[in-house]
Amino acid sequence: MTAAEKSEAVGRDFIRDIIAEDLAAGRHKTVVTRFPPEPNGYLHIGHAKSICLNFGVAEEYGGRCHLRFDDTNPAKEEQEYIDAIERDVRWLGFDWGKHLYHASDYFEQLYEWAEHLIRKGLAYVDDQSQEEMRASRGTLTEPGRNSPWRDRPVEENLDLFRRMRAGEFPNGARVLRAKIDMASGNINLRDPVLYRILNASHPRTGTTWHIYPSYDYAHGQSDAIENITHSLCTLEFEDHRPLYDWLIEHLPVPSRPRQYEFARLNLTYTLLSKRVLTLLVRDGHVSGWDDPRMPTIAGLRRRGVPPAAIRDFVKRVGVAKANSTVDYGLFEFSVREALNATAPRRLAVLRPLKVVIENWPGEKIDELEAANHPDDPSAGLRKLKFSRELYIEREDFMENPPKKFFRLSLGAEVRLRYAYFVTCKGVVKNAAGEVTELRCTYDPATRGGNTPPDGRKVKGTIHWVSAADAVNAEVRLYNQLFKNPEPDAANFAADLNPDSLEVLKDCKLEPALAAVKAGEAVQFERQGYFCVDTDSKPGQLVFNQTVGLRDTWAKVSAGSAA
Ligand code: ATP
Ligand code: MG
Repeated sequence: MTAAEKSEAVGRDFIRDIIAEDLAAGRHKTVVTRFPPEPNGYLHIGHAKSICLNFGVAEEYGGRCHLRFDDTNPAKEEQEYIDAIERDVRWLGFDWGKHLYHASDYFEQLYEWAEHLIRKGLAYVDDQSQEEMRASRGTLTEPGRNSPWRDRPVEENLDLFRRMRAGEFPNGARVLRAKIDMASGNINLRDPVLYRILNASHPRTGTTWHIYPSYDYAHGQSDAIENITHSLCTLEFEDHRPLYDWLIEHLPVPSRPRQYEFARLNLTYTLLSKRVLTLLVRDGHVSGWDDPRMPTIAGLRRRGVPPAAIRDFVKRVGVAKANSTVDYGLFEFSVREALNATAPRRLAVLRPLKVVIENWPGEKIDELEAANHPDDPSAGLRKLKFSRELYIEREDFMENPPKKFFRLSLGAEVRLRYAYFVTCKGVVKNAAGEVTELRCTYDPATRGGNTPPDGRKVKGTIHWVSAADAVNAEVRLYNQLFKNPEPDAANFAADLNPDSLEVLKDCKLEPALAAVKAGEAVQFERQGYFCVDTDSKPGQLVFNQTVGLRDTWAKVSAGSAA
């Protein structure tokens, strides 16, 4: 077995291997990680990967994981996002205990360290405009040019930096840059910006600050202050690691964290970019951050996806060093796995077609027993009332059926789940020629849906709801938000699926479904898993489809219908 295969076998990955080795070698007594969201949007399923990894390894190796808001850009950050992020991390099943931090907690310390760099001749105030700085940064193949302000005396740098802090200059007038190497092959080392002037109010520090640290400057130093041992981030930060290390090297920080990069999660039919998600919300392509079609944690929760399904999915995806795109079907698989075991089974007719049982005796009501879960007798039974008028699914009847259609058609017999065999004797049509009602007969000898004494068999079993006590509901069915398996982030609007939401207003549910509570999953037999939507009100039930019973995407690509 190679080391990688061994890791696989015990549910390990290269990050866990590094941590295990560091602990075994005594390089650290305990593992400390952090999840560092920027509160400029809601968390999505990609963040869940990072959350499960950071909190997961801390838990597995007896360490701890901090929640740290990377709140260094007040122009984009909002309290709403801070609250949503905390709620979502908790809901995913993780707890930071007392270790809730903010990069803004360290603004004073970060400022002092910036002065330290200035005093050591390792940072300078640059008066160039943004355009000038961009023009002199060079390219991947050409070195940059030194700023004319690069050799400013220390005292002048200190004076200007203090005045930047005091709010003497307008936005963008000056920046503080690290003095590293304008000819470096790594552009991140070409005198990166440490501080910029931004006269903006911050959700936590108010108007105290007129300068804000850059991500690269704040991040590693915040890690060091919190004694983070393993700073885990996505691959796009690999090129930033030399800067991360340079700053740790040149500052009197209390600890020396190391950064490790892993592949970000990409999912087919999905864009995991806060920029895109923000625009989807802002431009009204979805109803909000928690629209059930959104890949946000809030959207998935509203859609009825349990946190265990997200954790299971992330585990199946694993942690690798190379970027790849995961099939959306794998996510749906995890959702079904999580819901199948526990979701009670119920009958619901989404597109109703009325059925009259012509030989049913008048007002008689029969009470039939139905299993709450076919694989779990302990889930018990419930009573279903059967009477003369019922609803079945419109698509379970065909006037001119193809050969292998085993459901209802004129003259055909099917089993109504848990009830009786019925035979279709006639159809009623409206002026437009559409079937509006079926006339059927039932066989009393098949009560419970059982084979009659003559041994007659039927091939089809369909679901139904009794008209007399059906509960009306709206049911929302969802499809992929994007019609393209790899939507174009730069032009995402063109890839939006116009049929991502289907609202069915006239659904008929068995009465037990009126009692489903928020957060509970149910299976509508033959249809999929559903939950009550937050738009639901007493007397105005709204259900969301969480996921279908089968992999409809595989089905579509295999070219088979029904
Ligand atoms: P941006 O910084 O562009 O606003 P972001 O998605 O990087 O977007 P952050 O709040 O900075 O947002 O992310 C917090 C953490 O989540 C980071 O450590 C980041 O690496 C990680 N992360 C973000 N997207 C993914 C993803 N798709 N897969 C795995 N981890 C991710
Ligand atoms: Mg980021």
